[in-house]
Amino acid sequence: MSTIAEVPISSGQINGATGRTVVNADDFRKRYFKGTTKKQWNDWRWQLANILRSREDVEKIVKLSESEACAFETCSGLPFAVTPYYASLLTGTSSCDAVRRTVIPTHMEMIKGRGEADDPLGEDSCSPVDGLVHRYPDRVLFLVTEHCSTYCRYCTRSRKMGEIHSGNIKERWQKAIDYIKATPQVRDVLISGGDPLVLPDASIKWLLESLSAIEHVEMIRIGTKAPVVLPQRITKSLIKILKSVRPLFMSIHFTHPDELTAETVQACNMLADAGIPLGSQTVLLKGVNDSVDTLKGLYHGLLKVRVRPYYLYQCDPISGSGHFRTKVETGLNMIKGLRGHTTGYAIPNYVIDAPGGGGKIPLIPDYFQGKSEGQIMLKNYQGNTYLYPDEVL
Ligand code: SF4
Repeated sequence: MSTIAEVPISSGQINGATGRTVVNADDFRKRYFKGTTKKQWNDWRWQLANILRSREDVEKIVKLSESEACAFETCSGLPFAVTPYYASLLTGTSSCDAVRRTVIPTHMEMIKGRGEADDPLGEDSCSPVDGLVHRYPDRVLFLVTEHCSTYCRYCTRSRKMGEIHSGNIKERWQKAIDYIKATPQVRDVLISGGDPLVLPDASIKWLLESLSAIEHVEMIRIGTKAPVVLPQRITKSLIKILKSVRPLFMSIHFTHPDELTAETVQACNMLADAGIPLGSQTVLLKGVNDSVDTLKGLYHGLLKVRVRPYYLYQCDPISGSGHFRTKVETGLNMIKGLRGHTTGYAIPNYVIDAPGGGGKIPLIPDYFQGKSEGQIMLKNYQGNTYLYPDEVL
């Protein structure tokens, strides 16, 4: 991290989605990254080279609570990393702030609750070759890196994040590609990690070209948080590479409406303008986004930048996640509070990724009330009951 200068932060800007005053990125840069030019700040490689990785780095920006400070001293496992850009969202926050809670560890991570596990989805047991999870018959999850620019404290793959491999990464990728080539039922490949967009353009191009050269691969998806934590990564040259592969879909990990900054909006618009279908994935987190108003704010903001809310995940029971996990009833209440109260496009699928490897199971509130004398009883979003004739001649 660069040198700090005591330049006062003069003005704030209003986040269009939440109305929250956020610090001006220029002021933040001048104060905390003295001598850094705007051009450097807007370069994703500079952002990666200046990631905040330690207690000392983060303490220059926020005052840590006892619980947060304790976590830096005692937590091992999932590394700590936040891009300078995303750190700008943390200025002036308390330890209760929604966005801050998702990236700064607390001592709660050390408490392993009942039913929690390091690999709750049993991914390691569905891995035919290193870096590939083959759970559903027609699609695979291709984990191309174990690194992210910013680590989410509730990451399902915490157990792997930050891992360094000694061998050649391309040889590892090639083994996964060879498996996909030899498995004709795989028609859909989800490239994830870690965050694939921390890789250089040349690697992304190589991966996409190698996969699209396989005849039976009909579609490719990229799972990423880059537009949210590293929006500078969405460059014209990256867009050119992404545009060369059809059909390519992108799932973007969003958590809270405070993330919809001018930079993130621009990144999403660039991707949408390139014709890449965009969907969001959000993990339901206690005290972070478990209110209908917060989710509505996020989903309305996403639709404005052409990102379709796709999945709302019940938080996976990874070790030390108890402080993040809500009851399933809370998730169902989120959907109840959205369905009928806003446009259907703003309503994601609420799912639990079944522990042990059962795959995603959708959960919907009890709109179906039962059957009686050839009629289906249904409850609408206002709680009124309706009958549908379920007999056909
Ligand atoms: S961006 Fe995804 S892979 Fe990276 S830490 Fe967050 S949840 Fe995990």
